[in-house]
Amino acid sequence: MLEKADRVGGTLWFSTLTTPDNGRLLTWLQNEATRLGIDIRLTTTATADSVRALSPDVVVVATGAVRERPAVPGGDLPHVHTGDTMRALMTGSGDATGQSPLLRIMGRLGGLTGITKSPDKIRYLSSKFLKLLPMTRNVVVVGGSLVGLELAEFLAERGSRVTLVAEGGQLGVPMAMPRRWTAVKHARENGVNIYRDATLKRITRKTVEFIAGGETLSVRASMVIVATGVSAAAPLAEDLSASGVDVHVVGDAGSVDYIEGAVHSAWKIATAL
Ligand SMILES: Cc1cc2nc3c(=O)[nH]c(=O)nc-3n(C[C@H](O)[C@H](O)[C@H](O)COP(=O)(O)OP(=O)(O)OC[C@H]3O[C@@H](n4cnc5c(N)ncnc54)[C@H](O)[C@@H]3O)c2cc1C
Repeated sequence: MLEKADRVGGTLWFSTLTTPDNGRLLTWLQNEATRLGIDIRLTTTATADSVRALSPDVVVVATGAVRERPAVPGGDLPHVHTGDTMRALMTGSGDATGQSPLLRIMGRLGGLTGITKSPDKIRYLSSKFLKLLPMTRNVVVVGGSLVGLELAEFLAERGSRVTLVAEGGQLGVPMAMPRRWTAVKHARENGVNIYRDATLKRITRKTVEFIAGGETLSVRASMVIVATGVSAAAPLAEDLSASGVDVHVVGDAGSVDYIEGAVHSAWKIATAL
């Protein structure tokens, strides 16, 4: 198994920060991989060439979803984070391109001390220190699906003033009921300002502008987290398939269906092979 990060688990690992219960699935998968003697190569980015060099009979591509920046003015400012840059910040691994020097230093320090390897330590330390950081004082989360809602709740619990700008009317999808209600209730109790059916217009260095309820609003933002623009794509699979390799795509790379969908699609391929 080739994994470009310094740890296994991908987005599931990241999700254990906001949903500690997901950690049990991650631990079970890690134990199974060890028990079955899987050859895991960390910090190894798979390319079409490196995979072909292994002469595999079959390739399963599970590279996850792709995350786009919002196509509005200011969408590419350095304080605008996608899931990928947030992961780099919280875990000290991944692509830190475009992050502020302070965030890069924090990520590097976390990586060197090993703190960013432990979800419990990240949760504990962020509960003490996140509110002290200027860049997390006023956070706007764009996107009200499960991921946006959970991140908004996580940050608000840690003292950030959070505004959630949701493009749709329903929050927390595809969380099942009653967890969805509970998450919205917790977010509100923690002071998250929620705007539904909103349209993002512009991001500046200090504000986010959007339309909600027929009004154009502007809120302060020292950090913007974009939890929309997530889509399935597997360019690696396309490259391999074009050169005749037997390749299968599973998980968010094939269809963004969250943990259950990823497990199900992997099971279907594994049992078919
Ligand atoms: C904060 C947050 C909370 C969430 N909470 C939940 C939840 O409670 N319930 C739920 O169902 N879902 C949740 N999700 C979504 C869920 O985690 C993902 O849908 C799921 O983990 C996708 O799994 P995957 O294996 O398809 O992709 P990923 O977990 O994204 O894994 C892809 C892996 O491929 C690696 N990779 C990419 N390209 C390469 C390459 N070229 N070479 C080598 N390695 C590569 C990446 O580093 C990564 O480890 C959450 C997501 C986030 C961000």
